[in-house]
Amino acid sequence: MQNIEVVSNVESFALKEEPADAALIMVYLKNAISYQEKALEIYNVLNEGKSVKPKMVKRKTIAVSDNTGVISGWNSLNPKWNKFIAENYNVSLEQNETKVREFYQNHIEKFNQYGYKTKKWDLDPQEDLGKHYRSHAEKQISVIKPCNSIGVSRGICEEDCYPYLRALAQIRQQHIVVADPNGVYLFHYNGQVKFVYHDK
Ligand SMILES: [Zn+2]
Repeated sequence: MQNIEVVSNVESFALKEEPADAALIMVYLKNAISYQEKALEIYNVLNEGKSVKPKMVKRKTIAVSDNTGVISGWNSLNPKWNKFIAENYNVSLEQNETKVREFYQNHIEKFNQYGYKTKKWDLDPQEDLGKHYRSHAEKQISVIKPCNSIGVSRGICEEDCYPYLRALAQIRQQHIVVADPNGVYLFHYNGQVKFVYHDK
């Protein structure tokens, strides 16, 4: 992964930052970790298929920001899941393919400027290239619920979501902190990325 620095502890995220910025980064970090826990709980309960049916397939990824959640893939929501997750986890599951596509199209020059272009996939329809990679949970949540903190139930993908998030932090000129099962990423608005493994 480009421009990534693996650091040994989360305090390093705030090093050399202005005090106000450092404090914000720590808040984003704390939130991202709690959203990641929530994303994992939602993944587990849907994948288990006991408390609520139908069972969600294993390969799906859940992403959470604040009280909003998404499921990877398109047309992947189920009204029974939405109801159950809203009632038990206070998270509203949402999906909006048009909004995610338009967000990218509206910022395509900026994304290109920061070195990101959505990868094509073999089964993308000819008239909608990038459709598959745009369905990744990290991207959906970043548009549906723009937020400085994101939690995901699976490791973020190196090939497309990583460069996307790195570009997005620069476009927004805001830090984005993403927690996944492996650790936490700080996407700095200057293009640098720091990563720290979870304490095990
Ligand atoms: Zn991805």
